[in-house]
Amino acid sequence: MTSVSIPLDVLQRVAVKATEIRPGDREILTEQLGRDPRGLVGIGARCVCGAPAVTITYPRLPDGSPFPTLFYLSYPWLVREISRIESSGDMVKYNERLANDPQYAQAHTRAHQSYVARRDILDEVPEIAGKSAGGMPDRVKCLHALAGYALAVGPGVCPAGDDALAQAGWDPNVCHCGSHDDAESDAWTTQG
Ligand SMILES: [Zn+2]
Repeated sequence: MTSVSIPLDVLQRVAVKATEIRPGDREILTEQLGRDPRGLVGIGARCVCGAPAVTITYPRLPDGSPFPTLFYLSYPWLVREISRIESSGDMVKYNERLANDPQYAQAHTRAHQSYVARRDILDEVPEIAGKSAGGMPDRVKCLHALAGYALAVGPGVCPAGDDALAQAGWDPNVCHCGSHDDAESDAWTTQG
């Protein structure tokens, strides 16, 4: 548990979709993640039912270790759908597009810079200075991290994340919270 408390107006400069931690969020996240949501300072995005879908984590955890992954996708249905995309071999397509589409590549680099700037609003942690997540600035390595980012900041900031959400069939008006009973085995991934 963190002692850091971030006001809502600051959280919403970090991500436009951000909200403060509400009663019950930690319990739902602990179930989604299978562990305590360490360093949690806000919710980056929610399911239409209100359940957390993306965490906002302070860049230094309570135990002092640096934590670069500002936005962490916790929503089991989406974690599973994104895992399916990753294991289908489509990661190659994302990286080919980065290599062959200069505008896409530039947008990916801008997404990286924006990610670092957003995290620096919370705290500038020297060990992770200039580092982002998901393979940015020049690769797509973890679609979960990019999709979580895109979900929290809204469309148009992280194109690869926007594409992953679209490919996963994410619909912000549909609640999938009842459908994660079978997701225990593959709902968890390392995102970074
Ligand atoms: Zn829901």
